Amino acid sequence: AADTGELSAVLARILTEVGPSAGLAGRVADYIPALSAVDPATFGFAATDLTGHTIGVGKWRTPFSIQSVSKVFSLALVLAIEGDQLWRRVGREPSGNPFNSLVQLEHESGIPRNPLINAGALVVTDRLLTLTGDARGAVRDFLRAESGDDRVDFDAAVARSEAEHGDRNAALAHLMASYGNLENPVADVLEHYFWQCSIAMTCGDLALAGSFLARHGVRADGSRLLSRSEAKRVNSVMLTCGAYDAAGEFAYRVGLPGKSGVGGGILAVVPGRYSLCTWSPALDERGNSVAGVAALDHFTTLTGLSVF
Ligand code: GLU
Repeated sequence: AADTGELSAVLARILTEVGPSAGLAGRVADYIPALSAVDPATFGFAATDLTGHTIGVGKWRTPFSIQSVSKVFSLALVLAIEGDQLWRRVGREPSGNPFNSLVQLEHESGIPRNPLINAGALVVTDRLLTLTGDARGAVRDFLRAESGDDRVDFDAAVARSEAEHGDRNAALAHLMASYGNLENPVADVLEHYFWQCSIAMTCGDLALAGSFLARHGVRADGSRLLSRSEAKRVNSVMLTCGAYDAAGEFAYRVGLPGKSGVGGGILAVVPGRYSLCTWSPALDERGNSVAGVAALDHFTTLTGLSVF
């Protein structure tokens, strides 16, 4: 996919060949009631090149709940502010356990395995809250700035729904607090985390917002958020930890750094080339969008573009 013409032909093929399968094999997340209201057959795909030029197919202009995709951005913001200090509080190994698992925390003295599972993301949000005073606002404002779209915003109904069904995240946060691995009150960390996850935006905006990872750390305005090494590290953590307990399967099929969310979105990065975002809400049993993974699999197969 050397130019826009070829790229749009690839996306058109993905829409015809993968799009129709959307919703057939998976289930929309319903552990947060507000998420279950979306049509499982929805499918969108957007690609942004290094100049920020974005094209898409399907429902790429419809906002959806980004959920865990937000974890990439909070991680990048904390690394930008404090660099390697963060790694004293959270690891960077894949977990092999579900995103909301408690078991490893107990064995590893309250240090979460990585920043992209819930426990690790709660620690990152805690750091961001300490460093900025407004973690959720920092994530939203960054997403707005990078996408150039002021409509990017929290979805209060999703955030409230998540808080009402947030016992498991509260358990993770309290367990980490008991080990001294949270600096802010548990209630504040949870609140910022739930609101950060509730952000709604489109595939096009999310591909744009993630394109600093394709530009090796350089933001949309040309300023640098992360050093080249830090951008590589975020991409590496996405590759090894970004698809819940199916990160190995995602790497095997897609061969790109990616982060999925239970809203059905996936942000994937072709370093030095493209930032990609798919959205299709029907999930497999491990929480990844069925049609989204299939679309990215098809993308790397058709273009030959993967990190391998
Ligand atoms: N807000 C969700 C939770 O913490 C995010 C889950 C996800 O997308 O993986 O349960």
